[in-house]
Amino acid sequence: MDSLQLLSSAEKLGTPLYIYDAQIIQNQYKSLKNAFKGKDVKLHFALKALNNINILRLLKAEGAGLDAVSIEEIYLGLRAGFLPSDIMYTPNCVAYSEIVEAINLGVHLNIDNLSILEKFGNDYGSTVPCCLRLNPHIMAGGNSNISVGHIDSKFGISIHQLRHIERIIQHYGIQVTGLHMHTGSDIVDADVFIRGAELLYEAATFFPDLQFMDFGSGFKVGYKEGDIVTDINKIGAKITKSFEQFCQTYGRELELWFEPGKYIVSAAGKLLVQVNVVKQTTSTVFAGVNSGQNHLIRPMFYNAYHQIDNISNPEGEQKLYSVVGYICESDTLGYDRLLNEVRVDDILSISNSGAYGFTMSNNYNARLRPAEALFINGEAQLIRKRETLEDLYRNEVELELLK
Ligand SMILES: *Cc1c(COP(=O)(O)O)cnc(C)c1O
Repeated sequence: MDSLQLLSSAEKLGTPLYIYDAQIIQNQYKSLKNAFKGKDVKLHFALKALNNINILRLLKAEGAGLDAVSIEEIYLGLRAGFLPSDIMYTPNCVAYSEIVEAINLGVHLNIDNLSILEKFGNDYGSTVPCCLRLNPHIMAGGNSNISVGHIDSKFGISIHQLRHIERIIQHYGIQVTGLHMHTGSDIVDADVFIRGAELLYEAATFFPDLQFMDFGSGFKVGYKEGDIVTDINKIGAKITKSFEQFCQTYGRELELWFEPGKYIVSAAGKLLVQVNVVKQTTSTVFAGVNSGQNHLIRPMFYNAYHQIDNISNPEGEQKLYSVVGYICESDTLGYDRLLNEVRVDDILSISNSGAYGFTMSNNYNARLRPAEALFINGEAQLIRKRETLEDLYRNEVELELLK
């Protein structure tokens, strides 16, 4: 999508607008798939990153499955046309009844807790297979919010508890058909990833019934020039090789699974916002836009850097701005950004908004969630209507006695 296409999309569909480029999503999917040459890896798209039905269908057409972390996400996947067998369910701290519901729907179950494993064994014995989420205790990246494999993490069963796992699965006859790890987002160092994989290979000796290994995700994408990104081809080549060796030792060819979210959709998405005010204070010039932390929370939540461009003024002289939202909270989308001179009503494009953008949006300040559009075959098509005032109070119950 070039600037002119983005501008005409904003004009046609209004702002704030999330817009996703179908071509980029397809290319990202293919590039990841192709990084594992000679191995037919199975990619389960983590739909918590972006769950619009059209995006799910686009990826389904590419051959993707889904990684769901809640029963609601499973239902979104089924509604989009995925088979239960193409959905991996990786819950954490959910009610046991939700796990039962997922089992009844027939999706793959990933268990990340010994007490759940024991309860599951008691109820299902050998009748329902499961996968185990192991925590290899490796650090991926530096941000503890998005690094979920380390020692203090609430995710997974510690790799040091293998002996306990073994007791439980033997006692109940549980069929463990998969081993899983997800070390969290932003893996910078391919070798950290490989180290995690090797720990899973070692653990595999405890499990004779394996059919697949799932190495989760955490592929880092570039947010700004010069960012270190995960070298997908390096990881692909290394993992393919080590996995082949592992399968030989294990004595059987296993499937290799991944669960990319951000890698597939981050760069495909832009959040288009409009400038409401340009406000000069003693210390800075603010560009205040018709959006904020209610629509894109990553800058405030993770201190994430999202590139911002003024697409309305390509010839404008560059000046320094802090781009802020309209929410009554500090909601700075970008500090000290060089932007082409910003004027009221200009459209700013916020990059890398495809993953964890819309799905993390909310109604704080009683603001409405933005519309979503898909740029496909050279045209921007609406794929989610902008919310209306009615959406804000749809579920409210008015008490007679207070009327
Ligand atoms: C969030 C999540 C993913 C996707 O992570 P990305 O960094 O978006 O690729 C994969 N697997 C599980 C279990 C997750 O919770």
